[in-house]
Order: sequence, then C-alpha cells, then structure tokens
Amino acid sequence: MKRLLVLGAGTAGTMIVNRLRRSLDEDAWDITVVDQDDVHHYQPGYLFLPFGTYSPRQITRSRHTTLPDGVDFVIGDVDRVDASTSTVTLVGGRRLDYDYLVIASGTTPRPDQTPGMLGAQWRRSIFDFYTLEGSTALAEALKVFDHGRLVVHITDMPIKCPVAPLEFTFLAEAWLRKRGLRDRVEIVYVTPLPGAFTKPTCSEALGYMLEDRKIALETDYLLERIDVENKALISYDEREVPFDLLVTVPLNMGADFVARSGLGDELNYVPVDKATLQSTAHPNIFAIGDASDIPASKAGSVAHFAVEIFTDNFLQLIAGKPMTGSFDGHANCFIEAGDGKGLLIDFNYDTEPLKGKYPLPTVGPLSLLKETRANHLGKLAFRWIYWNVLLPGHSMPVPTHMSMVGKTANRATTT
Ligand SMILES: Cc1cc2nc3c(=O)[nH]c(=O)nc-3n(C[C@H](O)[C@H](O)[C@H](O)COP(=O)(O)OP(=O)(O)OC[C@H]3O[C@@H](n4cnc5c(N)ncnc54)[C@H](O)[C@@H]3O)c2cc1C
Repeated sequence: MKRLLVLGAGTAGTMIVNRLRRSLDEDAWDITVVDQDDVHHYQPGYLFLPFGTYSPRQITRSRHTTLPDGVDFVIGDVDRVDASTSTVTLVGGRRLDYDYLVIASGTTPRPDQTPGMLGAQWRRSIFDFYTLEGSTALAEALKVFDHGRLVVHITDMPIKCPVAPLEFTFLAEAWLRKRGLRDRVEIVYVTPLPGAFTKPTCSEALGYMLEDRKIALETDYLLERIDVENKALISYDEREVPFDLLVTVPLNMGADFVARSGLGDELNYVPVDKATLQSTAHPNIFAIGDASDIPASKAGSVAHFAVEIFTDNFLQLIAGKPMTGSFDGHANCFIEAGDGKGLLIDFNYDTEPLKGKYPLPTVGPLSLLKETRANHLGKLAFRWIYWNVLLPGHSMPVPTHMSMVGKTANRATTT
C-alpha cells in the first residue's frame, strides 16, 4: 500500500482528501488526514458574527461530516515532520509514515507575538475577529460600544483574507450609522501597507470608499507594542494611535511544527514551487493553502484553485508522468461594503484586479470592483456553496485559471 498523509483538515486538506479518495484505488492507497480537533470552521463567517448575521452554529461542523468514507481521520496535534525518514510524529508520540505528505496546516493569528496585545485589555477593549472566540467576544463588546474611537488594525502582512479588515470596517461603519451612533464614533483604519490594500488599482478604489465614509486612514504603520495603560498603539517610528475599542488582526504565522521540522521560512510558511506547490527541498512534500509561501493571497479561493491543480498533478506524478498543471495564483474575493452591497475582485500572480463582469462577459451576474447588491448576495450564498460544493471537492462553474473574459483590460499590470 502507498500512503498519502495530509496535515490539516481545513479548507485545503478537506478538499484534497475528498477529491483524491474518488481517484485513488482504495486497495492501493491509504489516505490519512490529521487535525487537532473535530470542528471545521467556515472562517469567512467570523466577519459576520459581530453584527449578528450568523451564529457560531451556522459556521461550524464536525469534521467527520466533511470527510469521505475510506479516509482515516486522526485527531492529534502534529509535533514534527522528519523528512529524512518520511515520518510525522504527533504530540504524545504516535508516528505516521508517508510516501507523500501534504502540509495544509494553514496560518494562525498570533497575538502573543506583539508586546502588550495579550495584556489586561485583551478581550476587554482589544479584540480580534480572526477566531471564533475573538469574533464572539467582539459581538458582545459592540453591543455596548456607543461612543469613542474605533481603531481597526493590521499588525503585519501577509494575513489570511487580506480584505477582511476592510470589510469589517465598512460593516462596522454601516452598523453604527444604522444605530444612530455614527457621529459619536471616530473610525480609524491602521495598516502596514502604503494604501488601503495591496494591489494599486484596488487600493485606490477601496481608499475612496474609506474617504467617502469619513474613515481616517493611517498607512505604513509598523506596530512595535501596545501601551496597555494608555490604550494606544505605538509604532516603531513612535506614532501613537489611541483607541477606545481596538479590533486588530494579530501577526499571522504558519504552524510551529513547520519551524520545528526545519521546513519553514521566518513566518513558518513552507517554501514551494509557486506553479506546482511542491516543496523546494523535498519532492514528496507539497504545501497547499495558507501554509505555503506562494506570493498569492492567503484565501479559501486560492486554496480551492490550487487544490484543483495539485490533485490533477498528483495523479500524473504517481503514474510516473511529468506534472503538467501550473497554478497561476488565481484568487477571487467578495468584499462586503455595508448597506447590503459588496464588491468582487478576481486576480492572479501577474494581473491586478480589473473592472468588468464575472463569470460571464456582459451578463455577469457579478460585477468586478463595483459595489452591487448581487455581490453581497453572492458572498452570503458562498456559505452554502462552501459546505456543499467546495469542501466535498465538486467542480464549480468557474475557471481554475484566471480568465480575461468579461474584464476591462485597460489597467493590467504586473505586480
Ligand atoms: C475573518 C476571515 C474571513 C475570511 N474570508 C474569506 C473570504 O471571504 N474568502 C476567502 O477565499 N477566504 C477567506 N478567508 C480565508 C480562508 O478561511 C483561509 O484562507 C482558508 O481557510 C485556508 O485554508 P487552509 O486549508 O490553508 O487552512 P485552514 O482552513 O485554516 O486549515 C488548517 C487546519 O490545520 C490544522 N492544524 C494547524 N496546526 C495543526 C497541528 N499542529 N496539528 C494538527 N492540525 C493542525 C487547523 O486546526 C486547521 O483545521 C477568511 C479568513 C478569516 C479569518
């Protein structure tokens, strides 16, 4: 028997084992997937919890219900990978051998990496919405927040879903306005980037949206520490940003076992070939999803398109053929704008988000880089699609590679 071992049963790991179990002969291939617990989280749902749109029950499921028959699901904490002996050890000592390994352990917010963040104000006036616990606690804090300075902040890039902090800001602004509190709350968006977002055209459009909503933008801000006593962010260049309520995205890092195994970069991301997702150090190891160091957004959509390339390539590899699929960094992300509207962006390693229609030219029904009701409804519909189409590894009626069909190609640049 050959053994495929997948570390992480999140978005990427679950799609991979669902797709490959259908393709690999059960008499020839053992598939095992490891995760530290039995609860799969629909992470895009964290954005909506503080505003009461979803409840925790709607965005979590037992991993058992998302994994197929014929896959061995092991609940355990990965301690280390020994690439020289093709062995994984779990905390507690259990050993799992593999012929091929996929690291799909994602990225995690690490408030412990910033002095002061986990101090006395954590979950009192300092919150995150990148975890279920953080987002649920923030919902309670927002219920009683009726005046002062709301600061939304990104510690450093890369973070998963880089548009999520902007979406939170737009939703919070609309929510405060609806409750008649907007003129009593000053909103500040603090980012390490030189503008509202990473990609220039998109950054320009989103910057205008902040301006329109009278949200102050503090750019190039590299956080050194939080002054807990005075409730203020302090940057390396000594800029002080006071807050009454801080909603921060802590530093995101890959799993610690990646570092312990000598497989990661300084943020614990696994260096891979950006076209095949194959480890640059070990040909029988792949890293898919947020766990890899590819220069694409860390997003579920990227994980989805990368999994489609990887699973086809993997079948070629084990048949002794060259891998012909090449991942182009394709990402598409809905951006909630508040007031029941949203934007959609579609881009890849080489092409910036462009205006136009998606997925069909002229017809859409979704519009690129434009606030519409259809985009908001698309974002809400995505939860159903995630559980019922994406995770089970079914094909979606959208191309794996980014397509220029429907796009207005006037601003294409290489980034
Ligand atoms: C607030 C928020 C909003 C988002 N919105 C969007 C969106 O609108 N669109 C979009 O495309 N993406 C969005 N994302 C990002 C998306 O959720 C992730 O990019 C996606 O889940 C990545 O999949 P993954 O499989 O790489 O990692 P994950 O889904 O995070 O899975 C990693 C798994 O590895 C497990 N693991 C880690 N370490 C260990 C260990 N030591 N031992 C055992 N198991 C381990 C974890 O328990 C986890 O289950 C959002 C994320 C957040 C936080």
